[in-house]
Amino acid sequence: MGPDERADAAQDSVRVSIARRTAAAPRRFRARGHRPGRSRARRRRNIPVSHRRPAAALTLVPPSLLTLEGFTALLAELKRRGHRLLGPTVCDGVIAYADIDSAEDLPRGWTDEQSGGYYRLRRRSDAALFGYAVGPQSWKPFLHPPIQRLWRAHKSGNDVQIEPEPAPTQRLAFIGARACELRALELMDRTLLGDGPGDPHYRARRRQVFIVAVNCSSASGTCFCASMNAGPHVRGGFDLALTELADHTPHAFVVQPGSDAGSSVLAALAHRSATAQEIDTAQAVVERTRAGMGRAMPSGDLHALLLANLEHPRWDDVAQRCLACGNCTMVCPTCLCTSVNDVGDLGGGEISRSRRWDSCFTLDFSHLHGGSIRHSNRSRYRQWMTHKLATSRDQSGDCGCVGCGRCITWCPVGIDITEEVRAMRGAPAG
Ligand code: SF4
Ligand code: SF4
Repeated sequence: MGPDERADAAQDSVRVSIARRTAAAPRRFRARGHRPGRSRARRRRNIPVSHRRPAAALTLVPPSLLTLEGFTALLAELKRRGHRLLGPTVCDGVIAYADIDSAEDLPRGWTDEQSGGYYRLRRRSDAALFGYAVGPQSWKPFLHPPIQRLWRAHKSGNDVQIEPEPAPTQRLAFIGARACELRALELMDRTLLGDGPGDPHYRARRRQVFIVAVNCSSASGTCFCASMNAGPHVRGGFDLALTELADHTPHAFVVQPGSDAGSSVLAALAHRSATAQEIDTAQAVVERTRAGMGRAMPSGDLHALLLANLEHPRWDDVAQRCLACGNCTMVCPTCLCTSVNDVGDLGGGEISRSRRWDSCFTLDFSHLHGGSIRHSNRSRYRQWMTHKLATSRDQSGDCGCVGCGRCITWCPVGIDITEEVRAMRGAPAG
């Protein structure tokens, strides 16, 4: 059974569990050797287990219905519990994640229109709060900031004191995380937590995040998460998952807890069990989104395709168009490369080391002694795309692309990673 079919089966199981109120499901999962809280990937990579339930276990928790007033109360409850709320806002002509105070700050009645090198906000005919696809920014900057100071050192006489940067303590809440973004967080966890101690700054932020996921009700022209098995239906890695029913009377959300923290927050809110019809309507919203994906990644063994075509003429073709601006790496939720800078004051009394986002499209990023080893646009684009779709599998066992489409929308010349693969597959090098 493929991931999509598993997701569909999971929804069916939710309906069945509501109808029968049976307790048989937990035993069934145990009988199959499933250990709640440890996914197969995590077992393989020994990644610390999050408190959130894996996708399969979500079938055990029947969905509820939360009205718009209940959603407003949800935000207030998270604030009361000490979370800094981050969510979608309209800012500078895009949907951008920023601090929010209440549902009034969300992009009510807005949607986005996207294609290669093109993004515009448009008015919707309803008052949906989450009726857009994705903006240019992912959750990456809030967990893996563009600039992160690592330590400072002070010189006092002949002594040097080194002060590590304290780990952040703020509890964040992500409001409106999409399925592809949750998948990207999973990939970030693998890279930045890994098998060892990982990055302490990332770890400190990540473990305190409360995630309110929202199933997509609107796919953009550059979305292709369905073909990457990364969406549009959220499958795990959240505390609460919502599906917005903007046409429902009253405006409401089907909500499902994905963790004990999510269940605890939901218990503090006025809600009721969702009816089978409401669950079907929520399912239809996601299926409509799946059918409306603007693009699809060609199927097949992309690892083999790309590594067999490292000298394909298509790399020259794309290099003619690519500006090496690095936009695609900045907006990508799974591009995590950084470089390190040391800055000292002119008096020599203080020095600090910072880590900042870098990009495989800059000349300096591959500078070894004597110069850059990727001095052409061809080699840099090839590095980016083969790492996304092929060699990341060798490193972590997973594809590095979640199909969010940001690199297509925000590429100033509209280079489309799905189209590049299609071109290469259509005419493999001899
Ligand atoms: S490569 Fe492009 S589509 Fe894939 S995750 Fe990154 S930005 Fe999204
Ligand atoms: S592919 Fe597009 S966004 Fe990426 S570096 Fe080239 S021109 Fe910039």
